[in-house]
Amino acid sequence: MKIAVLPGDGIGVEIVAEALKVLHCLDLRMELEEALVGGVAYAAHGHPLPEATLALAKSADAVLFGAVGDWKYDKLERHLRPEQAILGLRKNLGLFANFRPAICYEELTHASTLKPEIVAGLDLLIIRELTGDIYFGQPRGRRISPDGAFAGAPEAFDTMRYSRPEIERIAHVAFQAARKRSRKVLSVDKANVLETFQFWRDVVTEVHAQYPDVELEHMYVDNAAMQLVKAPKRLDVIVTGNMFGDILSDEAAMLTGSIGMLPSASLNDKNQGLYEPSHGSAPDIAGQGIANPLATILSAAMMLRFSLNQEAAAQRIEAAVKSVLKQGLRTADIHSAGTTRVSTKEMGDAVVAHLKAQG
Ligand code: NAD
Repeated sequence: MKIAVLPGDGIGVEIVAEALKVLHCLDLRMELEEALVGGVAYAAHGHPLPEATLALAKSADAVLFGAVGDWKYDKLERHLRPEQAILGLRKNLGLFANFRPAICYEELTHASTLKPEIVAGLDLLIIRELTGDIYFGQPRGRRISPDGAFAGAPEAFDTMRYSRPEIERIAHVAFQAARKRSRKVLSVDKANVLETFQFWRDVVTEVHAQYPDVELEHMYVDNAAMQLVKAPKRLDVIVTGNMFGDILSDEAAMLTGSIGMLPSASLNDKNQGLYEPSHGSAPDIAGQGIANPLATILSAAMMLRFSLNQEAAAQRIEAAVKSVLKQGLRTADIHSAGTTRVSTKEMGDAVVAHLKAQG
């Protein structure tokens, strides 16, 4: 098992160090190799995704990624900004399926802005298509409007598109994921207005014929946004396009109260994957030792499950994280009265201690 370790910028370095501690205490045979990515890679090599880093990621079974970005790089030309490294990795590794679980742990129910009875026990999975849709469709750009009421005025435009194979492969991923959960898929679209998403609905329905044991429901994205805050526990696996998934997965993240707890996985058709916390590099708290490492530790668990075929080890990590929360240990972002505030490193040490106690 070869893992490319890309800590990146800001808190990325601190939280990946804790995830590595956890992986090392599992006694699995793994080859881990570290490389620069993001702002630190630009500073050292003039590019946020140097060729050597990309080659390492391509040769690995999985990539454990911290976060990239810092305000000091915001003035760089777009293609040199740290965030371009993630887009480059997604594109070059063909990572089309993004898994974003949103779990509300019993002990953290109060951290959500929603009423406890709405979110307690929440456990849903958003599967977002990651390489198509209006984010990548061509043509796009700025021009002088050729027609309509504002002909002659400057305008900007993008192209929304999805091909049949792109929809089919993400639909298969969703139906297969649902078989390991409650056997229900909600496909989110905007078929009432957009041609692209009427096609999406048609193709998802066709693929569903191969999964008679899984229930399929369709919902317009505006209704899905409402249902996520009204009755999120009714939802289980949600599959949707790139843009709707981008927005809904952040909405779902907030149901759980803390972005510092949420892992993510992006997979290609060979189950090679990039695993990272759902949050960014948090430059406002970088270097202070107060970042929550649990999203990254849980991302490492997803890596063991999806790319390295080590389900038992993944479950051990998830159980250790639950035990740490039960023990009352909290980093600053999830701390509240009656719990014990710990640093990034102390949180990582506590997960390791619980893993060792499991025997
Ligand atoms: P962010 O997610 O980094 O931070 C948002 C807020 O959440 C901040 O107040 C931060 O302190 C807090 N936070 C985030 N992670 C935390 C953790 N583990 N523990 C405790 N608190 C945590 O988002 P932002 O501030 O909008 O962006 C900062 C930088 O990160 C930008 O350069 C942005 O482009 C980049 N970014 C990178 C990724 C990625 O690497 N995948 C994703 C999003 C943003």
